[in-house]
Amino acid sequence: MGYSIFSLARAALGGHRGWGPAWRKAAPKPAYDVVIVGGGGHGLAAAYHLAATYGVHNVAVVEKGWIGSGNAGRNTTIIRSNYLLPGNIPFYELSMQLWERQERDLDFNTMVSQRGVLNLYHSDAQRDGYARRGNAMRLHGVDAELLDADGVRKMAPFLNFGDARFPIRGGLLQKRGGTARHDAVVWGYARAADRLGVDIIENAEVTGFLEENGRIAGVETTRGAIRAGKTGLAVAGNTSKVAGRAGLRLPIESHVLQAFVSEGIKPLIPGVITFGAGHFYVSQSDKGGLVFGGDIDGYNSYAQRGNLPVIRDVCEGGMALMPMIGRIRLLRHWGGIMDMTMDGSPIIDRTPRDGLYLNGGWCYGGFKATPGSGLCFAHLLATNTPHPAATAFRLDRFARGAVIDEKGQGARPNLH
Ligand SMILES: Cc1cc2nc3c(=O)[nH]c(=O)nc-3n(C[C@H](O)[C@H](O)[C@H](O)COP(=O)(O)OP(=O)(O)OC[C@H]3O[C@@H](n4cnc5c(N)ncnc54)[C@H](O)[C@@H]3O)c2cc1C
Repeated sequence: MGYSIFSLARAALGGHRGWGPAWRKAAPKPAYDVVIVGGGGHGLAAAYHLAATYGVHNVAVVEKGWIGSGNAGRNTTIIRSNYLLPGNIPFYELSMQLWERQERDLDFNTMVSQRGVLNLYHSDAQRDGYARRGNAMRLHGVDAELLDADGVRKMAPFLNFGDARFPIRGGLLQKRGGTARHDAVVWGYARAADRLGVDIIENAEVTGFLEENGRIAGVETTRGAIRAGKTGLAVAGNTSKVAGRAGLRLPIESHVLQAFVSEGIKPLIPGVITFGAGHFYVSQSDKGGLVFGGDIDGYNSYAQRGNLPVIRDVCEGGMALMPMIGRIRLLRHWGGIMDMTMDGSPIIDRTPRDGLYLNGGWCYGGFKATPGSGLCFAHLLATNTPHPAATAFRLDRFARGAVIDEKGQGARPNLH
């Protein structure tokens, strides 16, 4: 059923008993043209674009749990394209443009809300850095505005402008940035892909790969073997583990990133605000909860939960910026597994194993990339060539020294 005001009215008249499932519970077929491992946002978006954009419909997405049980359903939902480096800006801007038309493309309310992303600066040097970033964005046609302290005060008068340890001197604003509802994004891609014939196979963990004449020819799963003309990995925090089963050793470490939500309060935060003197970022959900996060946990882990020192560190960042949140109660916190690359940028590429394609290394910024990543991965799977917006995300860039080190932190995943 298509979603429209008419179908809503019809369903309302029928007591809302007529809604069918949004996607089928598909059982695995013996073979597909393409099998994508991982039913997060990226895997589902790639499957959708394979069918919708490249006409490849004989596709399966194989997910070990339920779709969205990984980072796609655990992130803090921020979308933006405020990047600095040439390899990154065109890609993230493509993704932003896809967000802007996503609800029409998918016929699904993904609650894309362009309320703005404001990065605060606290020193002259940081202002210069943000001016440079803003100029780079504008040269690529991306919106950016540099605000002084008064400009920030107008937007967010509740920030600590009085006696802050790190006084707020201004901020870099991307008005087109904002948030989107993460679960809805997963469900929207799943429904749209399913309607185009894609099989979404949940509760099927990939435990190994089928090999034929040295080529990857499909996957072994807990629900049986599935042959595939091409196999794509989109398993985020499990990338190094799953790729390891195909004999690949990748420049990726897995770390936990935690996020937090407070009890609901009246509307306060106008968009997304990031602290420039520590790692803390915050937005407000439609239910009123403050949604916030900060640094990754410093140790390697595959657990979807984090540790207490980071909780303290993140809350300190929040208190430094907005001391009045000290009396708000924390409602929940959780963690997801980040596939941290050595330069903080992602990989969308063929692998040295013929038949096996890789989408990974999204670190903690992959939600905003979901639509662009899906399109570019689908392009690679369909054509065997990189999408023009993703030519920098090659696997061999680490060997070539052509890293995309957006933060300038070197090969230190815990700092990216
Ligand atoms: C707390 C937190 C906050 C974040 N905040 C933001 C943010 O504000 N903005 C932003 O841009 N990004 C953010 N991110 C990062 C973003 O969520 C991820 O980079 C992105 O979701 C990764 O892509 P994905 O959606 O495909 O991953 P996932 O949803 O993790 O999908 C991978 C899937 O692969 C499955 N899988 C793994 N192994 C196997 C196997 N062997 N067989 C079958 N399936 C398997 C997993 O179960 C999982 O469902 C955040 C992440 C976290 C955890």
